[in-house]
Amino acid sequence: MNKVAIIGGGAAGLMAAITALLSGAAVDLYEQNDRVGRKILASGNGRCNITNTNLSSSDYYGQYSYFTDYALSRLPFAEFKKFCLSIGLLLEIKEDGRCYPLSNEAKSVVLAFETYAKEIGVTFLTDAAVKGIEKIDGQFMITTAKSEKKYKKVLVATGSEAAPQLGGNGDGYIFAKHFGHTVETTYPSLVQLHIDSNFHHKMAGVKQFSQITLYLDGKPEEHIKGDILFTKYGISGFAVLDISQKAAAALTRHKDVSIGINLLPSFERQKLTAQILQLTEAVPSHPIAILLSGVIPSKTVPFVLETANVNPSAPSGKLGNKTIKKIVHTIQNWRFTISGTHGFRHAEVSGGGISTEQIDEKTMESKLVCGLYFAGEVLDIVGRRGGFNFHFAWASGHLAGKELAK
Ligand SMILES: Cc1cc2nc3c(=O)[nH]c(=O)nc-3n(C[C@H](O)[C@H](O)[C@H](O)COP(=O)(O)OP(=O)(O)OC[C@H]3O[C@@H](n4cnc5c(N)ncnc54)[C@H](O)[C@@H]3O)c2cc1C
Repeated sequence: MNKVAIIGGGAAGLMAAITALLSGAAVDLYEQNDRVGRKILASGNGRCNITNTNLSSSDYYGQYSYFTDYALSRLPFAEFKKFCLSIGLLLEIKEDGRCYPLSNEAKSVVLAFETYAKEIGVTFLTDAAVKGIEKIDGQFMITTAKSEKKYKKVLVATGSEAAPQLGGNGDGYIFAKHFGHTVETTYPSLVQLHIDSNFHHKMAGVKQFSQITLYLDGKPEEHIKGDILFTKYGISGFAVLDISQKAAAALTRHKDVSIGINLLPSFERQKLTAQILQLTEAVPSHPIAILLSGVIPSKTVPFVLETANVNPSAPSGKLGNKTIKKIVHTIQNWRFTISGTHGFRHAEVSGGGISTEQIDEKTMESKLVCGLYFAGEVLDIVGRRGGFNFHFAWASGHLAGKELAK
C-alpha cells in the first residue's frame, strides 16, 4: 500500500488525509499541536464560516489567483456539501452565500473531520512537529523530535504565519525553500490596520457604518462599505478587514497607502451640506462642535474639526458656506495614512507564500520535486472574507489527497 505523510492537521491536511485514505493510501497525519484543527475551532468567531456558495478565482489574490480555478472546479460548493454530509456534517447557507455548520459551532466541524478520519484509519500523530523533510533514494524522510520515517509521497499543509498563538508558523516556507521553491513575500491579511494620526486613540470605541476608500499612491483603488471601529492602535471592523488585503499587499510593495473614511455614506455630499446649513440657520449660536454632535459620533467631532481646521467653539451661524463645505468634505473623505497592519498575531490569514508558478494546479504536486505536494494557505493564495480561505484549503487538500494515493 502507498504510505504517505501529511504535515499539518488543519483544513487542507484533514481533507487531504480523508481523501487519500478513501482513495487507497495509508496516511500518517503529523500535527505539531496536541490536537488538530485549532484554526478551524477559532474561526468565524467560533462558528466557522466553512465555505461560500459563490466561489470563483476572482475571490482570491496571489500572483496567479487563477491557479485556484481547477481546484474550485473539482470541489464546487455542491460537491463539498455532499462531502460534508458523508462525514456527518450539515451546512447552513446564510447571508451573501456564506456557509456555516448547521450547529453554528466550529467544534462540530473539527469533530466531524477528526472522528471520520480516525474511523477510516488515518493515523493521527499529534504533538509531532516536523523538523525536516529530506528526499533520499526516491523516498521522503520525515523527522520529528521523536521519530524518523520514510514515505513515498508527502504533502506540506502547514498553513501560514497568521495567528501564531494557534500554531501559525513559517515551517512550510522553510521546507519549500529547502527543495528550491520560491516563496513570495508574506504579509498579514484580513487584519486590523494602523493609521498615522495623533488623535485616533482618543476615538477608541467609536463604531460607525462607513465607506472606506483605499488610495494607492494617491489613486482610489477600492471602496468598501461596512462597520469601522476606531481603536487605540488604529482601525478595525469588517470594512477594515475587507480592505486590509490590498492595503497590506501594497505596503509590502512600498506603495503610499492611505484611506478616506466617509462617516455618512448614505448621504450625497450636496444633501449633507444642505442639511448642516439648515441646522446652522436653525441654531446659529450653537458652537459648531455641539451642532455636529447630532450628526456624527460625538467622539469624532473635535478631530473632524481639527482636520478641517475649524474652531470647535465657533458659533455655527458665523461659519459660512465654504467652511461648512470643508467640514462636510472631511466627514465624507477623512484621510489617514496607513502605516502598517496589526501583525500576524491578529491576522486571519497571510498573503504571499509558496509561488504557485512551481506547483501543478491539477495535482498540487511540486513541479520541481516529484512526490512533494503543497495545499492550503501555505501557497501564494489568499481569499476574501466569507469562507473563501477555508474553501481553497478544502479544495486544494482534496486534489492533493487524490494524487497522494496514486
Ligand atoms: C481567528 C481566525 C478566524 C478565521 N475564520 C475564518 C472563517 O470563518 N472562514 C474562512 O474561510 N477562513 C477563516 N480563517 C482562515 C482559515 O482558518 C485558514 O485559511 C485555514 O485554516 C487554512 O487551512 P490550512 O490547512 O492551509 O492551514 P491551517 O488550518 O493553519 O493548518 C496548518 C496546520 O499545520 C500545523 N503545522 C504547522 N507547522 C507544522 C509542523 N512543522 N509540523 C506539524 N504540524 C505543523 C499547524 O499547527 C496547523 O494545525 C480564520 C483564521 C483565523 C486565525
